[in-house]
Amino acid sequence: MSVSTMGITVKKIEKSRIGELDHSNIQFGKLYSDHMLVAHYENGQWLQPEIMPYGNLNLSPATTFMHYGQAIFEGVKAYKDAEGNPVIFRPHDNWKRMNRSAERMAMPDVPEEIFVEGMRELVKLDKNWIPTAEGTSLYIRPFMIATDEFIGVKPAEKFTFLIITSPAGPYYAKPVSIFVEDKYVRAFPGGIGFTKAAGNYGASMYPTLQIRKKGYDQVLWTDGFEHKYVQEIGTMNVFFVIGDKVITPETSETILEGVTRDSVITLLRDKGVTVEERPLSIDEIADAFGKHQLKEAFGTGTAASISHIAELTYGDIHMKLPSEDWGISEWVKAELNDIRYGRKADIHGWIVKA
Ligand SMILES: *Cc1c(COP(=O)(O)O)cnc(C)c1O
Repeated sequence: MSVSTMGITVKKIEKSRIGELDHSNIQFGKLYSDHMLVAHYENGQWLQPEIMPYGNLNLSPATTFMHYGQAIFEGVKAYKDAEGNPVIFRPHDNWKRMNRSAERMAMPDVPEEIFVEGMRELVKLDKNWIPTAEGTSLYIRPFMIATDEFIGVKPAEKFTFLIITSPAGPYYAKPVSIFVEDKYVRAFPGGIGFTKAAGNYGASMYPTLQIRKKGYDQVLWTDGFEHKYVQEIGTMNVFFVIGDKVITPETSETILEGVTRDSVITLLRDKGVTVEERPLSIDEIADAFGKHQLKEAFGTGTAASISHIAELTYGDIHMKLPSEDWGISEWVKAELNDIRYGRKADIHGWIVKA
């Protein structure tokens, strides 16, 4: 059966797989919802997007992105509001960021009608897959790949944009232990650190594996010139509560502009908390720790939401944070959840109905 809504062709699954979803044990990224959205770009234009049953792609082994990494992605979440309606958190911000990544990676702009309207349509169709327990959501993964069948190194001409969705439980159940990286580098000025380009994450696997062997969960990246200024963690921006101020590195070419980061800064400033966006050195953090001024540290990202940092290791310095005092990060996490689940007024216009 094919029905056309808003220029999107919808081909529904014959029998839903929703029975496979165990609400009491939702693991991140293990199970995908019934449908996906696929849109092709060729001859300089986007063709009509199609929502179809989730399934494998049929691609030539010579497909460009597999060889040269012209691939970008986004991460968004859908929730059910207090009335049980499906809602999406700040999808337009992800849409804009996807297009900043696309430009840097020589890929075409994805129109709002495909990214946002297509996402709304898909989430509405698979709304039964949105879990409702506290801390759970439907994780939405839009992404774009270069699909020329050509293994010469040149910017591609054909692309495919897709959206898949997956029910998500809490990402890091426990506070994380962080290794401050002083050898490997994630991003350099002039590079692609500000984009969600696939290669950024491929390049982070080896350093992450090294620190996992030492018992740490995540790397805190530092700048590539001096390994002195902190940047971000894995797929999270990072915040430090020092004295009565909240400090986070300012975004730049080397730091991803997190939507959660922006939401957290906005909510803290609304509450009258001083938030500084500026260069923050690891020495300043260690110094504050020594003076008992380092009160909290946390990461922010769509997948993990707010993730408490239990300890930071920088060379010989082990900074163990007091776990009983997460006043600011707990407050902001609760505030964000209240808005996402529709329990508090959305004064910033962040919630979009699916
Ligand atoms: C996705 C991501 C973040 C967090 O961005 P959100 O929009 O909050 O999800 C931060 N840093 C990196 C490197 C990321 O990939």
